[in-house]
Amino acid sequence: MRSLAVSYVRVAGVERISPRMLRITFSGDALASLMEDRPDQQMKLCFPRRGQDVPRLPEPHAEDAYGMRWYEAYLAIPEPERPLMRSFTVRSYDPGPGLMAVDFVLHDGGGPATRWACAAGPGDVVGMVGPSSAYARPLPGTEGLLLAGDASALPAIGTILESLPAGARATVCVEVADAAEEQRFDSAAEVTVRWVHRDRGESLLDAVRSAALPEGSAAAWLAGEAGTVRALRRHLVEERGLPRSAVEFSGYWRRALTQDDAPTEEDLAWARERAAEA
Ligand SMILES: Cc1cc2nc3c(=O)[nH]c(=O)nc-3n(C[C@H](O)[C@H](O)[C@H](O)COP(=O)(O)OP(=O)(O)OC[C@H]3O[C@@H](n4cnc5c(N)ncnc54)[C@H](O)[C@@H]3O)c2cc1C
Repeated sequence: MRSLAVSYVRVAGVERISPRMLRITFSGDALASLMEDRPDQQMKLCFPRRGQDVPRLPEPHAEDAYGMRWYEAYLAIPEPERPLMRSFTVRSYDPGPGLMAVDFVLHDGGGPATRWACAAGPGDVVGMVGPSSAYARPLPGTEGLLLAGDASALPAIGTILESLPAGARATVCVEVADAAEEQRFDSAAEVTVRWVHRDRGESLLDAVRSAALPEGSAAAWLAGEAGTVRALRRHLVEERGLPRSAVEFSGYWRRALTQDDAPTEEDLAWARERAAEA
């Protein structure tokens, strides 16, 4: 496990951008040095335990202070005080005011991240681990891109579309609860979006099956519920003939499990496959 920056960020504002999505903006002393000009920046947010105003974090630069890496320092915090940690995407960073925006899906059965977001207000503090370019997975080089995911992938999809140059082509399939969750994307590229609505019984896999792949050398980026991502990847590689190396994929969450639960055998097999392809 490599070392990552550990810092505190403070809520500057909360905006409901759709019935099930909150955009929370954060300020933080370390943000200016941590934010990079690239899409799909991933980090972990650390939420306070009950009774804590501020989460207890491994000390900044824990590697130097303790001679061990951040995750070991994190695990060394006694469990009742250890912050609850979940993965998120930097939706945007505005260097003028120094504000980072993160979009939180308010999903059913929400855990600590969703509960925290619903109650968040200006001045509230969370911890942040990363982001770091050491963990960045560059998009496969291509003329045309297929992006597919659920609402939790919308922030990353938004940043990827914003980064595409004029002349690029992207086909986007996104599963959301209903039409009220649709978002607008800014992009210089030629973008076709297919919204998949759960309230109408539509399925992301069906949408991708029927989507025309962008012309030219095609590649895909997939994220969302792990089982769905696996099925999408299998379809693209086995039925549509995309090379494995042209499909970037990430299971963002697991049905009935949280990021506190140990990886399943399937998760481990998947991680080995990703590592072998890296
Ligand atoms: C690299 C990466 C980037 C991510 N970026 C974002 C982001 O920018 N915004 C964002 O909202 N999420 C993002 N996610 C997903 C987010 O980390 C998970 O949804 C996380 O589980 C939410 O934590 P929680 O505490 O609300 O729920 P948990 O305590 O983790 O889970 C509680 C229950 O809710 C279910 N659940 C978890 N997530 C979802 C979901 N999205 N939809 C439906 N049910 C769910 C679980 O199966 C479990 O039963 C990202 C994940 C990864 C790995």
